[in-house]
Amino acid sequence: MSVLEHVSFDNHEKVLFATDETTGLKAVIGVHSTASGPACGGCRMWSYPNSDAALTDVLRLSQGMSYKNIMADLPIGGGKSVIMKPEGAFDRKALFEAFGRAVESLNGQYITAEDVGVSPDDMMAVRRSTEHVVGLPEGKAASGDPSPVTAEGVYRGIMVAAERGLGKRDLNGVKIAIQGAAGHVGTYLAGHLARAGAELFVTDINQDGLEKLKAEYGATIVGLDEIYDQDVDVFAPCALGSIINPDTIDRIKAKVIAGAANNQLATREMGAEVLKRGIVYAPDYVINAGGIINVMGEIAGDFNPEWVKGKLDGLEATLGEILDQSSNEGRPSNIIADEIARQRIEEKRAAKLGKVA
Ligand code: NAD
Repeated sequence: MSVLEHVSFDNHEKVLFATDETTGLKAVIGVHSTASGPACGGCRMWSYPNSDAALTDVLRLSQGMSYKNIMADLPIGGGKSVIMKPEGAFDRKALFEAFGRAVESLNGQYITAEDVGVSPDDMMAVRRSTEHVVGLPEGKAASGDPSPVTAEGVYRGIMVAAERGLGKRDLNGVKIAIQGAAGHVGTYLAGHLARAGAELFVTDINQDGLEKLKAEYGATIVGLDEIYDQDVDVFAPCALGSIINPDTIDRIKAKVIAGAANNQLATREMGAEVLKRGIVYAPDYVINAGGIINVMGEIAGDFNPEWVKGKLDGLEATLGEILDQSSNEGRPSNIIADEIARQRIEEKRAAKLGKVA
């Protein structure tokens, strides 16, 4: 396994491999950038086939957090961690306590939280070993479920993208397809959109959740695969990654793609394919930053709803600038977002070095 030569290494400041024989812990922590502050990003537990797969995942996710956090103008850097899920039975509390010791060894350069496969209770176990953990279910500044704020950010982002792609910000009568509509973010988003007068087309594995959306908002339920063929104005992916790919792109009739899911484009090159088809794409890590904005309140130790609102205003402004630049220069919005993120990180790094000197 190569690390420094890894295709996704991207000048990570640190990569920590942590093991603990007693608990079976095998984890990798990626600290991509601390230029803006401590690297912050969740911990994912997954059954990785091997450590190469775990490393690839953590490097990509950690870089993604740097980009997301800098675009939301938060005083935190980007990092992420993965735990290779032990095979068979294991002591979950002890495993996460051991993971907490690994986090603690970084002396606050990395702050962890929950991600896929990890719960707020797991974070309570981590808290036994380190203070550098957020997303806790209880405590003075506990920020709680980030999904409502993520959904609000996505709702606002859809209006910004609709202004460019549909020529109007008003969503009254606009047809919107939501993938993963019964999920945490999807449900809150459906509420915002329905209240704005949008006509909803929804899909999810969770049929009960869909029935509720039908009863409450008059949403039309469609099949899991049919979601790509809907004759709609906006497609809002809120479930899985990589759903904009060569198999789906020509089925999408929407003029706007804007949703919460991470890594919506299967590859960076899909951004050009989207643009070629005249679709306005809201880069995922820009539009879905509401969750980390919410968590930031917990990191600061003082949850302030007014501050969160100001940051969501900033999210709208940043997204608007990216989409305008994309339209003016005829270049994909995802590439422009990456360029801006990298440039901002570089500026922060230079400023930090300047301060030390
Ligand atoms: P969730 O697990 O609550 O919701 C996802 C929903 O997608 C579930 O209802 C699930 O049944 C559904 N789903 C799964 N496979 C599907 C398929 N093939 N077709 C249609 N639906 C399917 O997750 P969430 O917290 O709502 O997050 C949704 C997405 O947004 C994820 O990609 C997540 O990484 C991203 N995101 C979430 C937050 C947040 O604050 N929760 C923040 C940033 C990004």
